[in-house]
Amino acid sequence: MNVVGRFAPSPTGAMHLGNARTALLAWLHTRAHGGRHILRFEDLDTGRIRGWAYDATRRDLEWLGLDWDAEYLQSERLELYADALARLDTYPCTCTRKEILTAIQDSAGAPHGDEAVYPGSCRAGTDLNRPAAQRWRVPDETVCVSDDLTGETLCQSLRSEVGDFVLQRNDGVFAYHLAVVVDDADMGVTDILRGTDLWTATPRQVALQQALGFLTPRYRHVPLMTDFRGERLAKRDGAPPVMALREAGESPGKVLSELVRSLELSPFNAVPDEISAADLIPLWRESGVFHPMKL
Ligand code: GLU
Ligand code: ZN
Repeated sequence: MNVVGRFAPSPTGAMHLGNARTALLAWLHTRAHGGRHILRFEDLDTGRIRGWAYDATRRDLEWLGLDWDAEYLQSERLELYADALARLDTYPCTCTRKEILTAIQDSAGAPHGDEAVYPGSCRAGTDLNRPAAQRWRVPDETVCVSDDLTGETLCQSLRSEVGDFVLQRNDGVFAYHLAVVVDDADMGVTDILRGTDLWTATPRQVALQQALGFLTPRYRHVPLMTDFRGERLAKRDGAPPVMALREAGESPGKVLSELVRSLELSPFNAVPDEISAADLIPLWRESGVFHPMKL
């Protein structure tokens, strides 16, 4: 079994401990299988990119002992996304967010969950005097996905729960969902391990894989690291960036130890105060939740 795994950070700022834990688990999963590990910078949203964040991320990963076999930048792969987009049934949409919300209210359909489902206002055509996004005319299907780690299954009706989603924004930026699907296929990724915040986006990504004739990788979603109040760690919450710990002369082994202890999972509970990334590989294989049969 040739496992190909990846870590796909957005270089929008300093990597915080929550990202580092996800990066560590993705790396452990790949390395426990003797697989090939990819570092992919998801840098399509140019307005949010910070030039210094690429190197800071590489250094943080190296400092933690998480290596990679190949590196890619999405910003250098635009042709691939354009080719994939051209193969899909899309249509231009000039709606503003406000127009979409009004259309939903007018149709008496309440927004589904916390995300408004685009009601298809431009399906039959639109006034092209405004910059247009490209939306995918989603098939009238229900897509189910399963998670190899949690055993959960999630089904979504593409028409009623997802809606025609944007594949290219009106400023020309390709959407994350399109790029991630094209890249995982092109890079031969077999195993995706990422934060649980992306679990509900998985059905639409699998739908795109199916429409483009790509294989679906195995998915594993891991909990996001939370602080002592149970709140998700994010850059804006002031979680210590890995960079700050590195520059302050903290020991990477201590940081790794804390990261895996925060999982509250056997056998990671019992790790010494300092441990190397390489020494965590056999523990990953032993762990009950991350069962080898499920890897
Ligand atoms: N770039 C995404 C993020 O930083 C991760 C994408 C993925 O793992 O599919 O949240
Ligand atoms: Zn529209």
